[in-house]
Amino acid sequence: MHAPVSRRALLAAGAALSVGAVASHAFRGTAEAQQKVAQAVVKYQSSPNAGHQCSTCSNFVAPDGCKVVLGKISPHGWCTIWTPK
Ligand code: SF4
Repeated sequence: MHAPVSRRALLAAGAALSVGAVASHAFRGTAEAQQKVAQAVVKYQSSPNAGHQCSTCSNFVAPDGCKVVLGKISPHGWCTIWTPK
């Protein structure tokens, strides 16, 4: 037989879930920021390399960003973790 669940217990559980969701969201934001690497680490340069450049990389975020490398990124730049789209 199931134990009766009080309204108070349900509210408490809901509140705990909400707090967890907010905490988890905040953590994800922090983790994303920390996952980016400095340009020097991946030998970023502002010119293409062997026909490869940021605008054709799957990590490029137009107009001047990158999902994995910090700072301003030129669409004509390149780094060692270039990945085709
Ligand atoms: S080549 Fe790709 S990973 Fe490297 S900086 Fe450019 S967009 Fe980012």
